[in-house]
Amino acid sequence: MARTMQKNGQKTVQKIVQKFGGTSVADIDRIKAVAQKIKREVDLGHHIVVVVSAMSGETNKLVEFARQAGQSQGSPEYDSVVATGEQVTSGLLAICLQTIGVAARSWLGWQIPIRTDGHHGRARIGTIETDNLDACLDAGEVAIVAGFQGRDQAGRITTLGRGGSDTTAVAIAAAIGADRCDIYTDVDGVYTSDPRIVPAARKIDRITYEEMLEMASLGAKVLQTRSVEMAMKHGVRVQVLSSFDDMIGSDWPGTLLVDEEEIVEKQLVSGVALSRDEAKITLIAVPDSPGVAAKVFGPLAEQGVNVDMIVQNISEDGRQTDITFTVPRGDIDSAVSIIEAQRGEIGYGRLAPDATVVKISVVGVGMRTHAGVALKMFQTLAEKGINIGVISTSEIKISVLIAEEFAELALRTLHAAYDLDAA
Ligand code: ASP
Ligand code: MG
Repeated sequence: MARTMQKNGQKTVQKIVQKFGGTSVADIDRIKAVAQKIKREVDLGHHIVVVVSAMSGETNKLVEFARQAGQSQGSPEYDSVVATGEQVTSGLLAICLQTIGVAARSWLGWQIPIRTDGHHGRARIGTIETDNLDACLDAGEVAIVAGFQGRDQAGRITTLGRGGSDTTAVAIAAAIGADRCDIYTDVDGVYTSDPRIVPAARKIDRITYEEMLEMASLGAKVLQTRSVEMAMKHGVRVQVLSSFDDMIGSDWPGTLLVDEEEIVEKQLVSGVALSRDEAKITLIAVPDSPGVAAKVFGPLAEQGVNVDMIVQNISEDGRQTDITFTVPRGDIDSAVSIIEAQRGEIGYGRLAPDATVVKISVVGVGMRTHAGVALKMFQTLAEKGINIGVISTSEIKISVLIAEEFAELALRTLHAAYDLDAA
């Protein structure tokens, strides 16, 4: 185990996991800049494990090679191919560190090992053995871990699903009991909304795991959703920060993911998110009888189509009703064919697919204790003449489906309405 010194009750030596995404290691110059950031933490005396992604664009290229060769996500050979992007960056970064006098070595998932289940292309991490990593840190070396990969029980290489290096980083942080997990990316933190659409968006200093989970699953693609779930479960202190400015994690410049108790001043709404990856399907004139919903959603679930929002209207005559639900946009064609194949079973009148909708969500733990958040959303959208299709709510989130053409207007207007605009 790496030793930790205590001074005035404060740790002077910390164990830190640093994760660098694809744009942060996009070329040799970027990798050299990353090496300097790592060196600064090492010079502070900290014990460092680094997790790297593949150079940006590399994984897409590898996925395409595998596809052209004849296999896509889900096979052992696919994983063996797409996992190589991270092998390249882990080796290059170790070289760059050694070149500036920092002891470092690269580690592949199977060498540590990071054990996963056997679901190729979307494997889940089971256990991480820490003996090798601990020995590496104790020897004063920086451990550079190739993200996004592990090995299954059969000894085959597995990958964790796109964006999986975030999960590797958080899982390692949990396993070695790291003081912090710094996720370096191409933005300097988590924002109240997408700054490219809402210029008045602000960087959030502290956000709760739960809020981040909602934001991540809503398309705020800063962190892989699964990594946030894991951080929440294990209480890993995750910090999101930019690899493109001069700060390092120990300067505390980014957005910190924390427990709700750690947030002193609770905002009613912490963020407004937009997801364009939505399509809605309406089944018109469905028999209003027991078992119909199961007949619709059973086959979709069986074939792996993820249904998000569902509404079923009250039928006027007690005989027929309409059911509307949403699926990821890329799944609309398969969802339609699955439902059409069930037509005899379900017995609906007509099917109306629509791939021109988006989902707007307001997220905030403050909603738990305040009424009127939803009303404000509906009024604000009504004032702009924006029609709401489907509504769904959770304890800390309200989502509505609207027409795609109003996406940006809705985002900006709601951002202002909840007083999130930068002063
Ligand atoms: N390189 C992988 C991807 O592009 C994993 C990651 O970057 O997190 O999805
Ligand atoms: Mg990523």
